Amino acid sequence: MSEEQIQTHFDDFYEDFFTELCKYGEVEEMHVCDNVGDHLIGNVYARFRYEEDAQKAVDNLNQRFYAGRPIYAELSPVTDFREACCRQNENAECTRGGFCNFMHLKEVSRYLKKELFAAQRNYLREQRRAHRERSEEESRRSRSASEDRNRERSVGRSRDRSKDRDRRSSRRSRREDRRDSYPDDYRYEY
Ligand SMILES: [Zn+2]
Repeated sequence: MSEEQIQTHFDDFYEDFFTELCKYGEVEEMHVCDNVGDHLIGNVYARFRYEEDAQKAVDNLNQRFYAGRPIYAELSPVTDFREACCRQNENAECTRGGFCNFMHLKEVSRYLKKELFAAQRNYLREQRRAHRERSEEESRRSRSASEDRNRERSVGRSRDRSKDRDRRSSRRSRREDRRDSYPDDYRYEY
């Protein structure tokens, strides 16, 4: 494979994985290790804006495969990737090469990185806008629904009151009717 092919292959991987991670939340950084030592080979580090999204990603990725192989994900105590990176490698001076114990990052093509993060920003902006519109629509709807309810309630109240009046008066009248209909002898035994 030529250098160019390797880069294209890697860019495809980066895009794939970045897109996958974005499903779980806002990704602020994503780095892929170029190391070949046992504990770093194949490692991808991602920083999510929110910790619960990182947890969600871990939970889901542990049930996923990539290119037919299982993914092992865990939360990392590393919060500052720059600290974990090999300074010498950044200056192309690391003599340990792939077996270095510090992270040697494989660089994704700059244009792609820019494009991916811009796409995520746009997507999130869209989401926020849709969410805002939805909640505005909902509050508008619930406002008008509660206005309707209030109207119904006030109508209902007056209707109920008039019903009560009717009931009261009918009760009274029934009792009166009954009394009136009792024969005189029974009336005073109560
Ligand atoms: Zn190094």
